[in-house]
Amino acid sequence: MNRNGDIIQTGNMERRQFIRWMMTVSGGLGLGMTACRSQSKIPGSIVGASAAIGHLLRDKVFERPAIFEERKVVIVGGGISGLSAAMHLGKSGIADVLLLELEAHTGGNAASGSNEYSKFPYGAHYVPIPNNQLTEYLAFLEEAGVITGYENGLPVYNELYLCHDPEDRLYINGKWQEGIVPNHGLSATSKQQFTRFFEAMARMRREKGKDGKDAFAIPVDLSSADPVYTALDQLTFKEWLAQQGFNAPELLWYANYCTLDDFGTTIEQISAWAGIHYFAARKGLAANAHYDDVLTWEQGNGFLAEQLIKSNPAELRTNSLVIAVAAVNGKVEISYYDVLNKTVKGLRCDQCIIAAPQFINARMLGSTDPERVGKVQANMQYSPWIVANLKVKAGLEERNGVDLSWDNVIYEGNGLGYVDAGHQKISLSQPVKNLTYYKPLKGTSNAEARKAALAKPHKDWVDEILTDLQKVHPNLEQQLLQADIALWGHAMIQPLPGWIWGEARKSLQRSIGNTIHFAHTDIAGISIFEEAFYQGLNAAGQVKRFL
Ligand SMILES: Cc1cc2nc3c(=O)[nH]c(=O)nc-3n(C[C@H](O)[C@H](O)[C@H](O)COP(=O)(O)OP(=O)(O)OC[C@H]3O[C@@H](n4cnc5c(N)ncnc54)[C@H](O)[C@@H]3O)c2cc1C
Repeated sequence: MNRNGDIIQTGNMERRQFIRWMMTVSGGLGLGMTACRSQSKIPGSIVGASAAIGHLLRDKVFERPAIFEERKVVIVGGGISGLSAAMHLGKSGIADVLLLELEAHTGGNAASGSNEYSKFPYGAHYVPIPNNQLTEYLAFLEEAGVITGYENGLPVYNELYLCHDPEDRLYINGKWQEGIVPNHGLSATSKQQFTRFFEAMARMRREKGKDGKDAFAIPVDLSSADPVYTALDQLTFKEWLAQQGFNAPELLWYANYCTLDDFGTTIEQISAWAGIHYFAARKGLAANAHYDDVLTWEQGNGFLAEQLIKSNPAELRTNSLVIAVAAVNGKVEISYYDVLNKTVKGLRCDQCIIAAPQFINARMLGSTDPERVGKVQANMQYSPWIVANLKVKAGLEERNGVDLSWDNVIYEGNGLGYVDAGHQKISLSQPVKNLTYYKPLKGTSNAEARKAALAKPHKDWVDEILTDLQKVHPNLEQQLLQADIALWGHAMIQPLPGWIWGEARKSLQRSIGNTIHFAHTDIAGISIFEEAFYQGLNAAGQVKRFL
């Protein structure tokens, strides 16, 4: 069963099951028992977005640079949006593109890590099968070897990257069941509600507005502006579910899990339009996959970030915190702080793409766009997250039911569960696994949750994760060799009511004059890879128009 409750029985799924089976019989999943040991302190560190460097923008007064280096195009921010912009400019033959990134590496939220056992994600970790009208995205995936060809006009996805079986499991009512749609031990009434819910979502997936556009599309901006649908942006998903008579606790848990998983936002907070979009916007057809299958890599979307910069002529300058961007006499002047040399440097360019989040842009732009600060503060909320990489020795105790899967979720767990980074590996044995745990953080407000997260010591994070996961792996503490915690203070935009179809988002998307353009998933409305890809493509299009 997939995430939308459909039973999948294709020959291609069997091929993937076969790959998985081959790995199992050859010992790839062998979890031989090892001696337990008691451990009082788990080693590890807190990693993630460099809050200390980012906060310099807020707290430090920088002098104006004395010299300005001349460039044609400067991109601020090396997440997927910025990298996509750089790739598209490169493909259009635009030379002299410089990308500035505050971190020591590019990738943004698609950051990844590695140890002697495997690579692993520290953020974004999968993409679903793309919708077929996204031709530029499909072309990119083909170049990256993710699509290996076409059969009867449909993309054939590389079996190494289509998530192998078992894809996901849910621990519910004392057992690991297949798939994360609750099923095991449910009452007939709850099961009926799931059937009705998925029928409603299937209808929404097919529906079109009066303007002929899909009611729910990717990118979000391709969706129908028909008020029948956009009115859903005025209420919360929880309210919509109640209006439709959906009240089974397992269904509400599931809907909440999904919106937390994709948007870091509960059903009580998220707009009904965004909640339904999660279930109704994906409709990709493939020769060897279902629209609800996922593509994943050891390092998660870090793989795709690497592909975006492969053979890209743009210069990438990391450890470069942009502190000011100003439109001056038809040009753009940029000041940035060279983090390693602790000096302020200047750039003057013809065109600039700002591919950083708006709460940062508002500070960088200062008097060039004085209203941005107010609009951002009044309309934009970012959820904080932690992602923990758990280095775990073989011998993890298991509960009954389905074997370790790529995605492992606990019903009513404290976090969103964990993915097994080595799931796609075809190797004989894995004495140690990297399990990546995800949790959006709650508090009385995002700001409070962020503050509490920054103050929390490593040991407390580990205790919290152990408390959650020991329900299903009682000996986790004994098997845990290391836990590294990535803190994402402003992980992703929250699509609260009014954000996606409101005026604020539209106005924040607009270029400043003919020289400063924006690309980031926060102004896309929702934070997913495809949106970042198209943010970059569209901003590159603007630059080409005005160069
Ligand atoms: C924990 C987590 C899990 C996720 N999981 C998934 C997933 O599985 N699938 C999926 O599709 N999406 C996922 N996402 C969403 C993800 O955010 C998007 O897919 C995408 O990677 C966002 O790219 P972006 O470029 O828009 O933003 P960002 O990744 O935020 O990139 C912005 C970049 O700008 C840089 N920057 C900021 N300020 C400055 C400055 N002043 N100077 C220079 N550089 C600056 C930042 O360091 C960063 O590199 C996840 C996000 C998080 C946080």
